[in-house]
Amino acid sequence: MPYSMDTVLPDAPNAPTNTERPPTSDGSNSHSARGNNKLTERSGNVNQQSRSDAGGYVSLNAGQIKEVTKKKTQYKPNSLLYTSKKTGLCYDVRMRYHATVDEGDMHPEDPRRIYFIYKALAEDGLIDDEDDVMSEQLRVQPVLAKFRAREVTKAEACLVHSEAHWKFIESTSRMPLRELQDHTRDGDSVYFNNESFFCGKLSCGGAIEACRHVVEGTLKNAIAVIRPPGHHAEPCNAMGFCLFNNVAVATKVMLKNYPEKVKKVLILDWDVHHGNGTQSAFYNNPDVLYISIHRYSNGTFYPPGTAGNVDKCGEGVGEGKNVNIPWSVGAMGDGDYIYVFQRIVMPIAMEFQPDLVIVSAGFDAAAGDSIGGCYVTPPGYAHMTAMLKTLANGNIVVCLEGGYNLLAIAHSALAVTKVLLGEPPGILKSTFPSNAAVETCQQVMLYQAKYWSSMSIKTLLPELVRSKTMDQSRLHDVIRIYQSKTLADKHNMFELAVMRAKERQSKSFVDQVLSSPDYQEKETLVLIIHDPPQVSAQPSDDRFINLHDAFLLDSGSAYVDWAIAKGYGVIDANVPQFLSGLSEPFDVQTHAQQLCCYIWDNYIGLSDAKKVVIIGIGKAAGGATYLMGARAECRNIVTGLLLFYGDVDLRAVVPPVQGDGLVEWYWENSQVYCSRDHNVWQQKKLRKKYGGLKQAKSHCIADMLREEFDRVTEWLEERIKSPSL
Ligand SMILES: [Zn+2]
Repeated sequence: MPYSMDTVLPDAPNAPTNTERPPTSDGSNSHSARGNNKLTERSGNVNQQSRSDAGGYVSLNAGQIKEVTKKKTQYKPNSLLYTSKKTGLCYDVRMRYHATVDEGDMHPEDPRRIYFIYKALAEDGLIDDEDDVMSEQLRVQPVLAKFRAREVTKAEACLVHSEAHWKFIESTSRMPLRELQDHTRDGDSVYFNNESFFCGKLSCGGAIEACRHVVEGTLKNAIAVIRPPGHHAEPCNAMGFCLFNNVAVATKVMLKNYPEKVKKVLILDWDVHHGNGTQSAFYNNPDVLYISIHRYSNGTFYPPGTAGNVDKCGEGVGEGKNVNIPWSVGAMGDGDYIYVFQRIVMPIAMEFQPDLVIVSAGFDAAAGDSIGGCYVTPPGYAHMTAMLKTLANGNIVVCLEGGYNLLAIAHSALAVTKVLLGEPPGILKSTFPSNAAVETCQQVMLYQAKYWSSMSIKTLLPELVRSKTMDQSRLHDVIRIYQSKTLADKHNMFELAVMRAKERQSKSFVDQVLSSPDYQEKETLVLIIHDPPQVSAQPSDDRFINLHDAFLLDSGSAYVDWAIAKGYGVIDANVPQFLSGLSEPFDVQTHAQQLCCYIWDNYIGLSDAKKVVIIGIGKAAGGATYLMGARAECRNIVTGLLLFYGDVDLRAVVPPVQGDGLVEWYWENSQVYCSRDHNVWQQKKLRKKYGGLKQAKSHCIADMLREEFDRVTEWLEERIKSPSL
């Protein structure tokens, strides 16, 4: 019947012949499956898909494609197709042969990743499988045009990679087991088996084919469900689960083979990791704009180092064509991604006017991915795709990169594919950006303003303020001195010394830890560790605020007053978010952790206190959570932790010994307040390691501290009365 015929795309005119390695008849690929390939998916769809992979592809010429499309349209009067061009899907079961050589090693870059996505697309009726139970007559949604991957040629790969790199990956196809294990152990997060070279070539060739179809106009747009991923692969080095840089090679091939149609390419990389390899490939190339949104965390998130930092804008003629959007913390969600898309990605992309958009689509920022630790939902990815589709006349190709939660990547890729097909993106639960996202966004705009007129710095801090000469009067230092004076006047509080190396001296540490005069003799001690207070201000014009229009929101001081009034000893510790006068990187979290341990070891632990309660405010709260795992003896006298995380990344308590009861203890003895829109509320199950979570009514920590004051001080008093362990 003509209407059940699949639209199958022609192979590349000059594409090398595939080395046929059809799966065995049960679809299990068992002849080459090792480790993770021995999976439990031998029934159902995989068989259908394997059969069609093995035998369902026929080469048609352009006339035949038109004929098929025409016939399909005739038999589907209800079809919503508004263009005869289809959305393409590159999928090739043979890419699953690349697996770890060690039996039982469950590597996150799991061969099942691509199958889970394929299955989700099939189950949603987007793939015309021969055995599809859904009647063609009833189908109203457009379906995908499948095409297979081909192997990248050496000449194509070497547009990005060195010959030595190609030769090394090639050599793994003949390597004995022992040597493969050695390279796997010694490499930078990569593994090899004898099929890795073949799969790497297919993955890379798949990206090229997807781009070719879109550029030639045989497809409207496409998604390439490919592995191994590519964006970490450097020109001379495989790393981060990546062998060949699929997207970078595809980009170079398009620029070379279609010089009239493809003059400029935008690569948008939303994988949670920085695509260091892609950045390297185009760092001095003015025709390729690389924009990456990734976790950076002061260079500690993979790949470690500063390549993903905000100041890396390209060099030479490529200067200004590299945009890094580095998250300073984890737990970023839809609101954060949409925020930077609307403020940075889309304005810059529109100004650049690409001819082709390629998405390095890792789904490891998806909610549920434990490696990424973020919360992007399928509708979040769908909205980003919808925005990108407005560029380059809709010429967009989505290529899979990372993403390690099998269900999360399947749902995310499905949502993206539906938008490619023409469906509207789903409803977003949250569009509220975190403070961290707003800060990152401002930093990026500051660096990119030089290159893009849409990145106006009018409302941002002028460059002058960033210079060291202004460090002497940063307000957070001024305010700490004011706080210290107020606490001395009101409660006779004085500074407790904190010894630190000479090179770490900073004005921002002045009066860092204060205590009430008799804290050593008090039976009950309250440790308050906090970020600097917030300031609310109305800017008077583009650069300045009038001091009479600015307000200090020091709601934390009420807690000091409360503790003193109750007769408890108080230690108040301030955690600056920036060190004036020091240019080296400063990690607030690490500092808060070290400070908590220092105060415990040198002051609280040596005092007469029988009961201790800890109040943590902002990022500094992470220090208190850390202390519970780092100093097991704390639990003998700490009877309560009251932590206001606001909208910052939650820290989990880490038991020094697994199963020592710390997680349970922390959950029972803490109240952990997160802002109303914190991404943690999107989790299906709240984990005990994050403590006794409470949803605050407001976003802002200062409001939270004020609103919850009566309730939480009552709780603290109960905790103080309760017997300690
Ligand atoms: Zn990744």
